[in-house]
Amino acid sequence: MAKIVAVLYDDPIDGYPTTYARNDCPQPEVYPDGQTLPNPKAIDFEPGQLLGSVSGELGLRKYLEENGHELVVTSSKDGPNNVLDQELHDAEIIISQPFWPAYMTAERIAKAKNLKMIVTAGIGSDHTDLQAAAERDITVAEVTYSNSNAVAEHVVMSTLALVRNFIPSHDIARNGGWNIADCVSRSYDLEAMTVGTVAAGRIGLRVLRLLKPFGVKLHYMDRHRLPKKIEQELDLTYHSSLESLSKVCDVVTLNCPLHPETEHMVNAESLKHFKRGAYLINTARGKLCDKDAIAAALESGHLAGYAGDVWFPQPAPQDHPWRSMPHHGMTPHISGTSLSAQARYAAGTREILECYFEGRPIRDEYLVVQGGALAGVGAHSYSNGNATSGSEDAANFQPA
Ligand code: NDP
Repeated sequence: MAKIVAVLYDDPIDGYPTTYARNDCPQPEVYPDGQTLPNPKAIDFEPGQLLGSVSGELGLRKYLEENGHELVVTSSKDGPNNVLDQELHDAEIIISQPFWPAYMTAERIAKAKNLKMIVTAGIGSDHTDLQAAAERDITVAEVTYSNSNAVAEHVVMSTLALVRNFIPSHDIARNGGWNIADCVSRSYDLEAMTVGTVAAGRIGLRVLRLLKPFGVKLHYMDRHRLPKKIEQELDLTYHSSLESLSKVCDVVTLNCPLHPETEHMVNAESLKHFKRGAYLINTARGKLCDKDAIAAALESGHLAGYAGDVWFPQPAPQDHPWRSMPHHGMTPHISGTSLSAQARYAAGTREILECYFEGRPIRDEYLVVQGGALAGVGAHSYSNGNATSGSEDAANFQPA
C-alpha cells in the first residue's frame, strides 16, 4: 500500500460546484503532432467537472482506495504546520499542479524518506528541485501536451487584450463611462506587427500557428531550430538569442520552461534591447522575468504592456509589484487549468499512476527525471539544476 499526497488548490469560495455553465466539454481526438491523449484504463469523473480543487481530487480517490492505497488531499502547502510537511515523512508519491505548486525543495525531498515519484498534474516541473530528485533517484513526471493548447489560447487572448487596450475599455463600460478617447489612446491593431516567441515547443509553435491569420510577421528563438518545412509554412524568422529577437518584435511571448538557463532571462539588462512600446506576454513561468525590472519598464513606458498568468512565488503575496503595476493584464495562474484541460491532465495523472503501480513504463514524453538524470521531455527541454530558490516566500500570501 502506498501513500499518495495530492496538493490541490482550494474549492470555490462559495463551495464545490453542483452545476456547470455547459453540458459538455469537447476534447480533441489527438494532439497536433500526433501524440495521443492520456489513455488510462478508466476514469472516475465526467470531463467538464472541476477536478483541480481539493474536492475534485483529480478524480483519483476511487481508483486509489480500491487498489488499497491511501490518498491525502490538501491545499495546505506553505508556512508553519502546513499539512504537506506533516504528511511528507511516509509519502510515496506527491502530486501537485503548477497553479498551486507544492514546492518540492531539497529540504522537503530529504524529509520524504519514502518518496519515489513526484507527478506534475499539468506541465512544468520547475517547482520540484530536479537536481535533488535526480540525486535521490525519484521519478518526476508531467502530463506533456495536456494543457499546451489551452495556454496558447491564453497567449493570443492576452496579446489582443493588451494591444487593443481591452481591459481598461471594459472597466470603463462596467463603470458607466463612455469616453472613447480614453479607451483608444493606447489601442492599436495587431495586424502588421512583428510577434516573436521565445521557444517554439508545443505552446510556442501553437501560438505561431494561431497568430498567423492575423497578418503578423512571425519570429522565434529556440535552442533547436524547427524543421525547414514549418519555417517556410509560417514564414518564420529564426533568432539564436533573445537580444536579436527582442530588437525587432512589437510583441514578445515567453514559452520556455523555467530552469537554471532561463531563470530571470528578462531583466533590466535584457529589457534594454526591447523596442520602446513592446508588449510582453508570459504564461510560461514568473521567474523567467525579474519582477521589479518588469514593473519599472511599465512605469517608465519602455514596455507598453505585460500580461500572463504566472508569478513567483505562487500564490503571489499581496505586495507583489505585478498586482499593481500599470498596463498589465495579469490573472492568477489559470491558463492551463480550464475545465477542458483538467479532464486531460487528470486522466494523464491516472495513466502515470497506473503505469507506476503496474510496473509498466511511463511514456517517455511524460518523463522529466528518471534513473537519476533528466529523461524524456526533461532531457530535451530542461537543464540540470534547481529553480525553486525563494519559494518559501509563498508563505507570505494572505487572501485580500
Ligand atoms: P515544450 O517542452 O513542448 O517546449 C518547451 C520549449 O522550450 C522547447 O522547444 C525547448 O527547446 C525550449 N527551450 C528550453 N530552454 C530554452 C532556452 N534556454 N531558450 C529557448 N528555448 C528554450 O513545452 P510546452 O510548450 O508544452 O510548455 C512550455 C512551458 O510552458 C512549460 O515548461 C511551463 O513552464 C509552461 N506552461 C505554463 C502553463 C500555464 O498554465 N501557464 C501550462 C503549461 C505549460 P528545445 O526543445 O529546442 O530545447
